[in-house]
Amino acid sequence: MGHSGTAEARAYAIPMRTRFRGLDVREGLLVRGPAGWGEFSPFPEYGPPECARWWAACREAADLGWPAPVRDRVPVNATVPAVGPEQAARIVAEGGCSTAKVKVAEAGQGPADDIVRVEAVRDAIGPGGRVRIDVNGGWDVDTAVRMLAELARFDLEYVEQPCASLEELAQVRRRSRVPVAADESIRRAEDPVRVRAAGAADIVVLKVQPLGGVRSALEVAAACGLPVVVSSAVETSVGLAAGVALAAALPELPYACGLATMRLLEADVTADPLLPEDDGCIPVRRPAVDEHRLAAVEAGTEPWLRRARAAEHAGRR
Ligand SMILES: [Mg+2]
Repeated sequence: MGHSGTAEARAYAIPMRTRFRGLDVREGLLVRGPAGWGEFSPFPEYGPPECARWWAACREAADLGWPAPVRDRVPVNATVPAVGPEQAARIVAEGGCSTAKVKVAEAGQGPADDIVRVEAVRDAIGPGGRVRIDVNGGWDVDTAVRMLAELARFDLEYVEQPCASLEELAQVRRRSRVPVAADESIRRAEDPVRVRAAGAADIVVLKVQPLGGVRSALEVAAACGLPVVVSSAVETSVGLAAGVALAAALPELPYACGLATMRLLEADVTADPLLPEDDGCIPVRRPAVDEHRLAAVEAGTEPWLRRARAAEHAGRR
């Protein structure tokens, strides 16, 4: 793997509680190096050039560790999927977070479903809470402008990826007062700077693995100059710890982060998962991998070692 000879590599396969990106099982490789465990969990469709950055993030965690934090707690948001209003209110009440992200524009649902869900979340979180929505690129510009005007009465913190393209995001930004965050528009290190240049967003959502590690993501954040929301790629606590390290090292952190995703997986590889505490924050720490829990979700390493080797090779070119 082009890695130190003492490195230990173990693959995992963990069922998801909720389908995510069409996946029912989250899979990846955990690698132990001198600095600790790193996670390499690119999505199945990603080829070696894309995987090279995910691999670099894993190696940074295992070989180097992360830059020093400037804060010791990271505020996180609860996520409300495209459920009915009663369940939406329950998720917010049980989540303990003062920020909620509501999924909207679900296939098979209409504007009325989104409106009652956002209303239920606003009522449940109270006037002091923050409510953001995530469209996952599902609206055209006119729909976005109309829906944002309709939803503005619930005092939206921002809208995440209302439309698919940068041009559309820029138009929404010009025609609506709700701040726009770019998420799917950012998959590579150069994307945040393009987002800013296009006037397409007020906020960027950054994830550690696709950007090649915490240091690389910090450089991207500095080059882009927009406020950052750190989000996970739905990882085990090993991968989440890298997201927490990024959020902890950013000079400014004005928004709650999308790192409260551990509960989306049915199991973890640590006895002490990275979950939000009663104040809606995740403490900045790196949980130890628990041998029994890892063994309980262990999968064959061979395909993952092949993927890691291909990623390593692609990264050297
Ligand atoms: Mg999103």
